[in-house]
Amino acid sequence: MATALLPRMAFAARNTLRSLRTGIQPANKTRLVIETATRPSYSLSYPSGQLVITIANTTANTGISASLASGGLVKSIAQAQNGDALQIIATLRKPIAQIPKSSIMILEPNGDNDYRLVLDFVAGQANATADTSYTTSSAATTTAVTAARKYIVVVDAGHGGKDPGCIGKGGTREKDIVLSVAKKLKSKLDANGFKTHLTRSDDTYLKLARRAEIAEQRKADLFISLHANANPSRKMKGFSIYTLSEKASDEEAKKLAEAENAADKIGVEGFTQFEENIRIALSSLQQHAVAEMSEEYANGCAKAFKRADIEQQAGPDVRHAPFAVLRSTVPGALLELGHLSNTAEEKLLKTSKHQDKLVNAIVKSVKNYNFEV
Ligand SMILES: [Zn+2]
Repeated sequence: MATALLPRMAFAARNTLRSLRTGIQPANKTRLVIETATRPSYSLSYPSGQLVITIANTTANTGISASLASGGLVKSIAQAQNGDALQIIATLRKPIAQIPKSSIMILEPNGDNDYRLVLDFVAGQANATADTSYTTSSAATTTAVTAARKYIVVVDAGHGGKDPGCIGKGGTREKDIVLSVAKKLKSKLDANGFKTHLTRSDDTYLKLARRAEIAEQRKADLFISLHANANPSRKMKGFSIYTLSEKASDEEAKKLAEAENAADKIGVEGFTQFEENIRIALSSLQQHAVAEMSEEYANGCAKAFKRADIEQQAGPDVRHAPFAVLRSTVPGALLELGHLSNTAEEKLLKTSKHQDKLVNAIVKSVKNYNFEV
């Protein structure tokens, strides 16, 4: 995607505010849209009763008045010039919690609009960090809030318990390999300043929908599902990376998704309801944003694997398929770490050395991922 390749920090020209508006979205969401001439670089803070959006290198535009939807959470909007930065101060009717990244988008200019920073939020409990941080000056607050937050990564070791996943000729089980890699990955990510949760930390069976649900409950910024695959052709080898789509990108991706999803055929109840909940929780624009972020992560991950000289399965860097485990509001990818059906790769996947190599590549991909849109 072209937008992912743009340098996010380089803003030679000074930005200008073009318009400010709010609207109402399904499920009682208030949408705040801030239109600017160039791509905005922003941070958020949550002083009591307010939402403050600080946009770097931008001039206030007192010539415009905000258009506010009635019934929304924003009572009034003010602009304040704070040095080089423009602060948009929205006074709220009810408190809100920190807005998750999946509810924030930057839209590219189209026929009628310039860049739009779009924030969706609902009434909710403000958290302690946001409350206390307002006692200091607003500029300091913004920095403190962003610096304090650790990004949350949920690592999912595929299969487990009664579901062994695929089994190599030498008897190696997918569920054991991916659990071992997941544990190593957790400790390395934690050591690198991330907050990492595992969907399973032992040999237990978890439904696919439950794994996605854990990512939701943990309010994850990124979800990584670990697998290893098998192919009827024992020659086939290498890693492959997948993101969610309703349609598979090729026949092989389709078969793989069917095989990975099959683990759940034993207990698929509750999944329709779960999908329905996601549809309610996310507007189509947000679903699009999650898909875009997943794609960006997956591409970066493929690069990190190749740079680490990990053998790649022939084909595109990122494939798409309807994996049940990726159906959530959290951006993420499913990584097939290698082929247990290939004798040489089965041996390799069992070694601590190769597992460490995989873990290091994944850690790099997470560190390089742009969590801030
Ligand atoms: Zn699997």
